Amino acid sequence: MFPKLVAFDLDYTLWNLWIDTHVTGPLRKSGDAVVDAHGVPVEFYSDVPDILRRLRGQGVLIAACSRTHAPPMARQALQLLRVPGNDDEAEKPAIELFDDLQIYPGSKLTHFRALHAKTGIPYKQMLFFDDEPRNREVEKLGVVFHLTPTGVDNATFDAGVEAWKKRISKSAA
Ligand SMILES: [Mg+2]
Repeated sequence: MFPKLVAFDLDYTLWNLWIDTHVTGPLRKSGDAVVDAHGVPVEFYSDVPDILRRLRGQGVLIAACSRTHAPPMARQALQLLRVPGNDDEAEKPAIELFDDLQIYPGSKLTHFRALHAKTGIPYKQMLFFDDEPRNREVEKLGVVFHLTPTGVDNATFDAGVEAWKKRISKSAA
């Protein structure tokens, strides 16, 4: 069982840098890697591509919710980073696995209100992974927040899904 929508922060949740301060544009491909103007690599934490694939396979909507001050660079990174194929699907740009991108500065309450307005999905059917405790404020809306102090990996992801399941079974009781 999964929530209808899973959202991810970007910086230090899906990759290990701040895209607006640690990276200098333009980003470009260098072999299989994505690098910035100084050769600094931009890459997902290793379990991320597989997690995105698993969610897609379950029909779960995927969103990115970031308050970065460099939205175009964040989108470019998602465009250049590729998610390997599997038996069912070919390799593709990571951005194609996201159903919605909410990438702009400010409180993430705004990001989730926009997601809710666009998708009609109830907040309690949304699970959010983010490395910054301040963004827990989205729980005011009913979103389930899961802190990822060292980024998303399989164990953290599974723990988030379990936390969401507990919450939903409580609210149904
Ligand atoms: Mg972050």
